[in-house]
Parts: sequence; C-alpha cells; structure tokens
Amino acid sequence: MRTAIYPGSFDPITNGHLDVLQRAARLFDRVIIAVAQSEGKHPLFPLAERVAMVKAAVAHLPNVKTDSFNGLLVNYVASCKAHTVVRGLRAVSDFEFEFQLALMNRKLDENIETIFMMPKDTYTFLSSRIVKEIARFGGDVSLFVPAHVQTALQEKFRSNPVTGRPADKISG
Ligand code: ADP
Repeated sequence: MRTAIYPGSFDPITNGHLDVLQRAARLFDRVIIAVAQSEGKHPLFPLAERVAMVKAAVAHLPNVKTDSFNGLLVNYVASCKAHTVVRGLRAVSDFEFEFQLALMNRKLDENIETIFMMPKDTYTFLSSRIVKEIARFGGDVSLFVPAHVQTALQEKFRSNPVTGRPADKISG
C-alpha cells in the first residue's frame, strides 16, 4: 500500500490545495492530508476548524484521509509508515523554500522523498493568504475555495472585520 502525506497549514484549504490533492490521490493508494498545528504562523482558523474544513472538502475522495500533527513532519511521516511527502509548487517563488524544506527533511530522515506537483494553471496565483485578504474586505472568493470555506471566512470576518479574530484582551 503506497501512502503519501500532503502536509500544510491549510488556513484555510483552497481549490489549489484540492487540485494537488486530487492529482496525488490518483498516483497513490492512500493520501493523508495532514494539517499542521502551525501555531507560530498565528493561523486565522484554529486547528480543529481547519481540520473540519479539510474533512468536508475531501469527503468525496475515498482514498484520502484527514489528520493533524504537531512537531516535526519527518516524525509524523514515519509514524504513518509512509515515505513520501507531497508538496505543491506554484511558481518560482515557492521553489527556494520548498527546496530547502525537502532537503532538510531528507537530512533528518533519508527514507523520506518529497514529490512536487503543479496545480492547474488557473490556481498558480492562489494562496490561503490571498484568499483571506480578499475575504477580509468582503470580496468574492467563491471561485477559489469550496462553499463551506467561503461561509466560514465570511463568519470569521463578520465577527471582527479587521483581524477575523475575537477582540484581544487589553492587558495591564
Ligand atoms: P504551509 O504552511 O506548509 O506552506 P500551505 O497550507 O500554505 O502550508 O500549503 C501547503 C502546500 O500546498 C505547500 O506545498 C504549498 O506550496 C501548496 N499550495 C498552496 N497553495 C497552492 C496552490 N494554489 N496550488 C498548488 N499548491 C499550493
């Protein structure tokens, strides 16, 4: 059974992520889409919400499983008894970081291979960050994310139009 891990923050999952995932699901017996805690990135959506959005978005893909992880990706991959990591490459701008990450992961565990998949050209400009920026200002993101993600973004920014987060406590 060939298993691939598709890791990321998925804050939130976009149609670009889904495009890469669908391509990977055709190549492997099983793909685990692994949502990273990514606390250091201060995600807009807490882990549980990101996982729930991913689960709903991949429900139609029978060989895709959703999971989450914290800590080193290589440890998570080994715990799944997998050897392959899938990452998406959109443009040259992704290359440097992804190249560094792939080689570092190989240094940490030489059994792990990273494969890169290019999305459909219409998704090469798409990122979770840009989708959040558009949604923050009330723009239409229906072409870029599944409907339930669009609703979640609208609700987030309705509660706080500036940050999408509950108001910070004022300390002191
Ligand atoms: P991370 O925080 O690990 O970068 P992301 O959720 O931003 O997580 O992205 C996860 C993976 O999906 C990365 O490999 C990223 O390059 C890829 N990715 C993100 N958006 C797209 C897209 N529109 N098309 C293809 N790949 C994408």
